[in-house]
This record gives sequence, C-alpha cells and structure tokens, in this order.
Amino acid sequence: MKVLVIGAGLGGLTLAQGLRREGIDVAVYERDDAAGRPQGVSLHIDDRGGAALRGCLPPPHAAMIDATMGGLREQTLSLSEVDGALAVVDTQPSDARPGRQAHRPLLRAVLLTGLEDAVRFGAEFTRFERQADGTVRAWFANGRTDTADVLVGADGVGSAVRRQYLPHARVVDTGRRMTMGATALSAIPRLPDQIGNNPAVARCTARQWCWPPCDSPRHLSTHGNGCCPPYAIVRSPRSRTI
Ligand SMILES: Cc1cc2nc3c(=O)[nH]c(=O)nc-3n(C[C@H](O)[C@H](O)[C@H](O)COP(=O)(O)OP(=O)(O)OC[C@H]3O[C@@H](n4cnc5c(N)ncnc54)[C@H](O)[C@@H]3O)c2cc1C
Repeated sequence: MKVLVIGAGLGGLTLAQGLRREGIDVAVYERDDAAGRPQGVSLHIDDRGGAALRGCLPPPHAAMIDATMGGLREQTLSLSEVDGALAVVDTQPSDARPGRQAHRPLLRAVLLTGLEDAVRFGAEFTRFERQADGTVRAWFANGRTDTADVLVGADGVGSAVRRQYLPHARVVDTGRRMTMGATALSAIPRLPDQIGNNPAVARCTARQWCWPPCDSPRHLSTHGNGCCPPYAIVRSPRSRTI
C-alpha cells in the first residue's frame, strides 16, 4: 500500500512517521520549500496528545521530543506589579488537561528527522482524480503527479484537498485573532523562578506589560529551551470583541 500525505505540518509528519513505522510506503508533499516559513512558537501537548505522538514515533524520536519539552503544567498564575516588582498575585489550578509545552520549530525538526527521503518540498497540491483501478492521482503546481492507494489531506485550515473532496465544507472566521511571540526567559528578571513550568497571565496594570494594541491579559508559559512565549489576545478589527 502507498499513501500520499499533502502537507508537512505537525499532523502530516506525525502520520508519515506512524505509517513508516508500520512499514507502509508514504510520500509527503509540502507547498513550502525546505527552508520553509517560521514554524511558530510553542504548543501545549496534553496527556492524550503526548500518548498519540509516542504511539506514532520511533522511540528515539519520542525521547528527543521529551527532552525538548517543558515540565508538567499544574497551575495558572496571575502576575502583576507589586511595589514596583513583578509578583505572583493569584494561583489557580490549571484549567487545561495535564500537559507540557513543546517548542514548535524543534518539534517539527524532530518529526522531519528520518523522513528526508519521503518529503517533497516546493510541491503545491492542486487537485486529485480517482482512477478506474481504485487508486488516486494527485497533481502539483510544479507539474509533477503521483499516484497512491490513499490520499490524505493534512494541508491545514485552507486545505485544497478538502476544497475538492468536501466542497460544501466552509471555514468559519470567528473574528478572533491571536498574536504570539517569544522572549528569552532571562529577559525578565526572576520570571523563571516565579512561574516554573506554569502558564501565567500578566495583568496589564503596568505600562511595561502592555503591547500597544492589547487591552487584555498576556499569557506567559515556558517550554524546554528556556524561552517564554507571551501570548496576547488582541481585538480583531472586524468584531471588536475579545
Ligand atoms: C496561535 C495558535 C496556537 C495554538 N496552540 C496550540 C496548542 O497549544 N496545542 C495544540 O494542540 N494545538 C494548538 N494549535 C493548533 C495547532 O497549531 C494545529 O492544530 C496544528 O498545527 C495543525 O497541524 P496540521 O499539520 O493539521 O496543519 P498545519 O500545521 O497548518 O500544516 C499544514 C501544512 O500543509 C502545507 N500546505 C498547505 N496547503 C498545501 C498545498 N496545497 N499543497 C502542499 N502543502 C500544503 C502548509 O504549508 C503546512 O506546512 C494552535 C494554533 C494556533 C494558530
């Protein structure tokens, strides 16, 4: 059996690792070139996600991912300025399932490891066609085609596979937007000691904790490489709601 996976994101690469582990022939087609785009900042992987990931990966890959993740999140903290210094002002039990924070670019790099011969970069999927013999043929913008028994659309929210296969399915824009960035933990004195592995909300009570467009709390959390990604939920121009 041969499987074509469209999209070398976290989903497509995890699937490709799992298929290869089971001895199934797999080819992954990715629109971006090998250098690619920035892969984002971080990802909370809960206990179910961690188990699924381990189930798909060879043990050395799972060990590499484990080594790059932050510790177990247990609480959600609120930070604010007290007497001119940053302090934890509230502690709540975590409202998410137990999990740990992964560094997205490292996670993707590990998922790519060992699949170098299976991933074709710079190949934008354009359409597919079912063949009389039960196989499916995929076309790419670079003029290539490939044929397999199964075609998997792992090409994200704007999936071209879904557009053709399920033309009635529509992506609904909820009007919400999220901006993320990463700051070295060492840039904020004493922060690592104060928040440990837990996400924290920095209240916008002091000028230095606000981004200009943000009038909501900033969420901070850590992952294994010593970075602290602040999340800011900003008002979308369309909905003006948070
Ligand atoms: C701000 C933010 C924070 C998030 N935080 C979390 C979190 O903490 N925990 C969590 O579990 N999830 C989180 N998510 C969701 C998570 O990021 C997504 O569920 C996940 O990335 C989806 O992976 P995917 O492989 O399906 O799609 P994607 O990561 O979108 O990958 C799709 C790939 O397909 C490629 N592609 C697209 N079109 C084509 C085409 N025509 N031909 C070939 N290739 C194509 C793209 O270039 C891309 O590489 C977050 C999402 C966002 C936006």
